[in-house]
Amino acid sequence: MSKNAQAFSGIALSATTHQVSNQVPPLEDTNLLDSDPVLVDALNRYHTAWMRPDLERFGQKMGSALMLEQADLANRHLPVLRTHDRLGNRIDEVEFHPSWHKLMSTSVAAGVHNLPWVRKLPGAHAARAAMMYMAYQTEAGHCCPISMTYAAYSVLDKAPDLAAHWQPRIRSKHFDGRLEIDGKDKRGAIFGMGMTEKQGGSDVRANTTFARLVGNGEFAQSKLFAITGHKWFCSAPMSDAFLILAQSEKGLSCFLVPRVLPNGKRNVFQIQRLKDKLGNKSNASSEVEFRDTLAYLVGEEGRGVATIIEMVTHTRLDCAIGSASLMRQSVVQAVHHTRHRSTFGKLLIEQPMMKNVLADLALESEAAALLAMRLANSFDLAPANQSEESFRRITSAIAKYWLCKRAPTHVVEGLECHGGNGYVEEHVMPRLFRESPLNSIWEGSGNIMCLDVMRAIAKEAGAIDTLEAELAKSRSYSSVYDTAATTVIGKLHMLKAAAMTGRDDAQIMARRVVEELALVLQASLMIRYSAPIAADAFIQSRLSKSHGYTYGTLALGTKFDDIIGRYVP
Ligand SMILES: Cc1cc2nc3c(=O)[nH]c(=O)nc-3n(C[C@H](O)[C@H](O)[C@H](O)COP(=O)(O)OP(=O)(O)OC[C@H]3O[C@@H](n4cnc5c(N)ncnc54)[C@H](O)[C@@H]3O)c2cc1C
Repeated sequence: MSKNAQAFSGIALSATTHQVSNQVPPLEDTNLLDSDPVLVDALNRYHTAWMRPDLERFGQKMGSALMLEQADLANRHLPVLRTHDRLGNRIDEVEFHPSWHKLMSTSVAAGVHNLPWVRKLPGAHAARAAMMYMAYQTEAGHCCPISMTYAAYSVLDKAPDLAAHWQPRIRSKHFDGRLEIDGKDKRGAIFGMGMTEKQGGSDVRANTTFARLVGNGEFAQSKLFAITGHKWFCSAPMSDAFLILAQSEKGLSCFLVPRVLPNGKRNVFQIQRLKDKLGNKSNASSEVEFRDTLAYLVGEEGRGVATIIEMVTHTRLDCAIGSASLMRQSVVQAVHHTRHRSTFGKLLIEQPMMKNVLADLALESEAAALLAMRLANSFDLAPANQSEESFRRITSAIAKYWLCKRAPTHVVEGLECHGGNGYVEEHVMPRLFRESPLNSIWEGSGNIMCLDVMRAIAKEAGAIDTLEAELAKSRSYSSVYDTAATTVIGKLHMLKAAAMTGRDDAQIMARRVVEELALVLQASLMIRYSAPIAADAFIQSRLSKSHGYTYGTLALGTKFDDIIGRYVP
């Protein structure tokens, strides 16, 4: 026996110094639909029974340990840019971990990217919104290309020849995970979007990327242009095609840029680098340059913003859904943790102050889900109902503004419920936290949303009437609500008057009015669709100003246990 070995003989060596106790088991293998009564109610309300078995299956799958593992892996093994092949040829490809492909193929197979375009049934947008809501809880990054593909579809209606080529591919449930190269046929297609340039994203009129007419394309009616310039943010650069904005001689116009040309050759699509982002890590976001890149005109030349706005409206819906989804996952994780973790001789969920925090988070999450689903419902109703179209248009901006603003603070509070265990990367909370500010930035940042609300009420006849009619559906339940509804409609008229005269006052008031409007809209939905205990607590805290600046400041007498009870996973 060596000296060292002798020295240690007689000491009982063990890797275990203590019993692990009071730690919380992972939250996995829950059905994200069945465990969510707010979502189930919304789906029943919006006539989606025909999709129920598929939604059940999707909820089961997205809540499974297997998919949660894929989500984790896709955010640890990040996308890698390959600009050139071994021989020095440009390839401009991004390599993803297999987990990314699993996430994408699962959502594509379920139709999260296309359901309303494939099954034109009542409630199709709402059913798809529910899938987006569930997928986002599992892994938000891949929802970006899924959302952009869904959103691009109806823009293509403005170029029938392009639509004939691309829409069947979007309707496909097949995800190839590669570009169509060397004539190999692809069944499906994923779309991206390119608007933002270095000098400006909100003000796309500042775009300098230039489009030069070069003739007619392989698709007979579409004008073919050569594009030169750049995009400063271009997410999902491995998409098959992009809708982008560029200046032509007639002004800012919308173009379709395919990554592979009809002759099987690669289009010029030079990915300069991938963004090193705060969150949304699994998804590649890139900077791209175009050098005589071939592109087809979509819609009327010089009317690019008007053309691409339909895509933007759909992605804004998904920003609202996504933020509501992050809040749902934040409170579900917090409730799960506090049901299993004890401090000072009690489960955390039994501690009175923690009850206040959890109930408050639950109310916020429920109100967010109701607003997001009502917005999705308006996408179903809008084609046959002018008032719903007006509601869809203005509420897209209101809901995007408010829900995206609420998500980060909500997730922070949900994370804090976990103590230190919520701050480590093995837990999902850091990922939710890093994701949470993003929806507020892309597809129009907060101020831009408020400018959009101002524009809608000033320019679109009936916008305020539509909102008033929506709020009227919940009158006579609560005097606090009735007063708040009347007050906010008055403020909207003041905002409209200021906006129409172009006074700075309009912009100075805008955030406050949009915030109040969002809260009253949420309260109206809580009155109609939530349990009275939750509706009452929401009205009391959010409308009567009895609430503090942080979560966990609901009033004495609130039915905390009942409110939290709906959130037990
Ligand atoms: C992860 C990520 C992915 C993205 N992916 C894409 C993509 O795929 N395609 C794409 O086109 N873009 C993408 N974007 C870009 C995004 O849409 C823009 O960042 C966003 O539109 C804001 O533009 P900007 O960054 O140029 O900010 P700016 O336009 O400079 O705005 C800065 C701030 O000023 C505010 N502001 C602007 N104008 C006004 C005003 N008149 N009054 C008051 N406030 C104002 C804005 O609200 C914002 O808060 C992505 C961004 C991120 C972070």
